[in-house]
Amino acid sequence: MVGSGPNGLSAAIVLAQAGHSVDVFEAEATPGGAVRTIELTLPGFLHDFGSAVYPLGAGSPFFSSLPLQSHGLEWIHSPAPMAHPLDDGTAVVLERDLDDASRALGTDGQAWANLLRPFAENWSDFAAEVLRPMPIFPKNPVLMARFAANAFLSAQTIAYRFRRERTRALFAGMAAHSFLSLDEVMSGALGMLMAIPAHAVGWPIPRGGAQSITSALCAHLSTLGGKVRTSSRVDSLDTVSGYETFLCDVTPRQLLTLARNRLSHSYKQRLQAFRYGPGVFKVDYALSAPIPWKASECLRAATVHLGGSFDEIAASEKAMRSGKHADRPFVLLAQPSLFDPSRAPDGKHTVWAYCHVPNGSTIDMLGRLEAQVERFAPGFRDCVLARRVSSPADMEGMDANLVGGDISGGVIDLRQFLFRPTSRHYCTSAKDIYICSSSTPPGAGVHGMCGYHAARIALARFTRNR
Ligand SMILES: Cc1cc2nc3c(=O)[nH]c(=O)nc-3n(C[C@H](O)[C@H](O)[C@H](O)COP(=O)(O)OP(=O)(O)OC[C@H]3O[C@@H](n4cnc5c(N)ncnc54)[C@H](O)[C@@H]3O)c2cc1C
Repeated sequence: MVGSGPNGLSAAIVLAQAGHSVDVFEAEATPGGAVRTIELTLPGFLHDFGSAVYPLGAGSPFFSSLPLQSHGLEWIHSPAPMAHPLDDGTAVVLERDLDDASRALGTDGQAWANLLRPFAENWSDFAAEVLRPMPIFPKNPVLMARFAANAFLSAQTIAYRFRRERTRALFAGMAAHSFLSLDEVMSGALGMLMAIPAHAVGWPIPRGGAQSITSALCAHLSTLGGKVRTSSRVDSLDTVSGYETFLCDVTPRQLLTLARNRLSHSYKQRLQAFRYGPGVFKVDYALSAPIPWKASECLRAATVHLGGSFDEIAASEKAMRSGKHADRPFVLLAQPSLFDPSRAPDGKHTVWAYCHVPNGSTIDMLGRLEAQVERFAPGFRDCVLARRVSSPADMEGMDANLVGGDISGGVIDLRQFLFRPTSRHYCTSAKDIYICSSSTPPGAGVHGMCGYHAARIALARFTRNR
């Protein structure tokens, strides 16, 4: 394995479960890729460098099959998965229970439940279908036909089903996770893919931070005999000898460098055509107190979406998709220490926040990001003890897969959803090389399913060739 992100570790576990001997080469000093926890600001303040909230981790069919809890992984659920403050000083709070959510959304409650209930109530079947390459013959055709009816709609079209501006704003925040413009095909389905697990499995955080997911995966891998070699960047597969097969938890651009001499000309051309998505501008905070939200109900949720109305979030995402920087960017914020005191010294807090920017952006968004927090929490800046600002280049410097700050392993639009990174998916033009990062189906998120499927395909090939 090259790379020890959640997909690399998942692939390694699948191979080791089948009795193969596996070594994982990791460039950084700590395994985990975008699933690491680091003291980024002050001693004792534990910050998630990349991912922080795990609907797809808790709902992953593969992770659920592993004894991760016995290796220390503990999910913590905030009382509500998500809150979305508005300018009138109130907040829309998404309740985890779908009936409670429906009641809280008033006149839109029925429309919200109608949209999500069939999938939330059948999460295991649904997750198995959507967390893999697009199936030609789904195992649950009725459920998937129902999803397909919404799959190509934009977030804007789906939001028209809601009468209240508050519910439209709530859905805009969900859909904006996609990095698509909210009038783009599929942006609605990707919003649904955030909202469905909120009701099915919640949006939990791991006690101790993201690293505890990685530590549990590494510990399980080690019980199966697999080894992780940190501080071991692989610059070319030619420099690593003695292995029958390589699975690469890297994005297409890196694969081109790693395996340059081993890939066919036409396959390399297709990898070169792969498109990266927008980047993130991220800030981690050490705070002296919880965020002073105007709407105190925001204190019930580990995740808070800052961007105001549907129209405003749509304008922010449209600007970013057309290479501009929004004056009022949509900000995703997590406040884990409210629910997990191990993240900060007594009485103190950590906060994680980012906004979307064009790929490779060098514009300083700190003022605009903080203005969005102050807008809904006046006095926020007075609570800041220290901050760590990470530009897209800084993010890539700490995890080579975050090309230009792209946290999704490449744009997830219709074409790159179907052909990710090419029509071969995990296979390459070389029989002994596979790609298994989030640049393969089902794409971004901490679920390990890219690695799981890639390793299963590699295993099937071993079996055929023996
Ligand atoms: C800021 C941010 C916020 C996010 N928020 C969330 C969230 O809240 N919830 C969620 O589910 N997902 C979130 N994500 C996305 C999620 O973290 C990724 O989709 C996921 O980590 C992808 O896993 P991966 O294994 O494909 O790659 P990565 O996690 O990026 O791991 C790749 C690994 O490969 C290593 N590597 C690369 N090249 C080489 C080489 N040549 N030699 C050796 N090692 C190499 C890297 O160092 C890295 O450790 C977020 C990501 C970021 C960055």
